[in-house]
Amino acid sequence: MPVTARGGGTGLCGGCVPSPGGIVLLMDRLNRVLEVDKDNLMVTAEAGVRLCDLYPVIEKEGFFFPPHPGEETAMVGGVIATNAGGSRTVRYGTVRTFLRAVEVVLPQGDILQVGGKLVKNSTGFNLLHLFVGSEGLLGVFTKATLALLPKPRHTLTLIAPYPSIADAIRTVPEIIRRDLQPLAVEFMEQDSVELTERQLHRSWPVKGSQAYLLIIMDLPGDDDPRVEEIAAVCQAHGSGDLFVAETPDKQREVLEFRSQMYAALKPWCMEILDIVVPRSEIAGHVEAVHALEREYKAWLPTYGHAGDGNVHSHIMRVGFRDGKPDFEAKADWDALYPVLRNKLHEDARRRGGMISGEHGIGLAKKEYLREFVGPRQVALMQGIKRLLDPNNILNPGKMF
Ligand SMILES: Cc1cc2nc3c(=O)[nH]c(=O)nc-3n(C[C@H](O)[C@H](O)[C@H](O)COP(=O)(O)OP(=O)(O)OC[C@H]3O[C@@H](n4cnc5c(N)ncnc54)[C@H](O)[C@@H]3O)c2cc1C
Repeated sequence: MPVTARGGGTGLCGGCVPSPGGIVLLMDRLNRVLEVDKDNLMVTAEAGVRLCDLYPVIEKEGFFFPPHPGEETAMVGGVIATNAGGSRTVRYGTVRTFLRAVEVVLPQGDILQVGGKLVKNSTGFNLLHLFVGSEGLLGVFTKATLALLPKPRHTLTLIAPYPSIADAIRTVPEIIRRDLQPLAVEFMEQDSVELTERQLHRSWPVKGSQAYLLIIMDLPGDDDPRVEEIAAVCQAHGSGDLFVAETPDKQREVLEFRSQMYAALKPWCMEILDIVVPRSEIAGHVEAVHALEREYKAWLPTYGHAGDGNVHSHIMRVGFRDGKPDFEAKADWDALYPVLRNKLHEDARRRGGMISGEHGIGLAKKEYLREFVGPRQVALMQGIKRLLDPNNILNPGKMF
């Protein structure tokens, strides 16, 4: 009997869809935060705790958990199973960096306690990291211990407006090289911003530019020279005056706008891609996306995590004419869809990229796995799956 674990159901590649039927294991009632350990800076929570319920508990104690997928109804078990990242990855890494221990129920009924409240651990193969990103194929998580950081005293959100996306993206390596340590660096383009304003009745605070960098800084005090330096680097690469969001409310508004961009595009979206390329290749990959838009007259709105090379292009049922989305255009979108995703993935592969930076493989991306990692690695992964789940009951039909 197939068993599919379902966390918040926010995953973007069909990972928790019970495609072969069977049992869906809802995690909703495993919803307790068990302990905030102030001496070890760790939180232990059950797998069904939603991030939006976890953050306030740890923040109240003066702590901070950096991983932040844009949808806060994702659950602790789900973010481990997908190795979720989000905008703060550039500075702190993905969930993998923060997982210290996990309780896993194996398909044949054993319950494992893997890891501990440890900062380092070289005791045998690292099974903890094997379970991270296992997408519900190797075991069901019921409880996890995650490392925390002290809560930053201040954060500041900057928006740098640019005449072109290429200028915006080319700013990022210099920000990283100068060790300015942003918490997040996101890029987005005007057409997607306009659609989000229209669809969700939200307002973006900067008007009239083609592209934007959204930069979040965590600061030890009010006055930090890094802010001036980041502004100078942005302006040296063609940015106009930076918008500064200082109050927590204004900063939350800006971040929520970014998180909601997917919701605005969704009615027309056939697939959100999750390509990750070396940072030096982001600008080239985004240029390739725009060349495909022009060639196929199909809008491919693209935004992403400029700081870590993770680019989300959306394959839409929307045309592209005179450099703008054309919502009236008629085309055989179903026929165009595989052509565009093949071309986009091909470009990523040429640049040394991968098909998923944070969403995982699930159902949506499994046909590309072999092509990207090769048959030998797929065979090793399948061997691991067989070892842990000899009857192939956990989330069968996903990933491979
Ligand atoms: C608007 C929006 C923005 C997003 N932004 C980001 C982003 O910035 N970064 C990012 O990384 N992701 C992002 N995501 C994707 C999504 O939030 C993450 O993939 C998240 O980690 C999924 O968590 P979930 O609890 O919803 O898992 P689900 O969608 O329920 O499941 C995902 C996978 O995990 C498995 N699983 C779930 N719970 C368990 C468990 N207890 N034990 C074992 N396996 C389990 C499922 O079987 C499935 O394979 C976004 C999604 C949306 C809708």
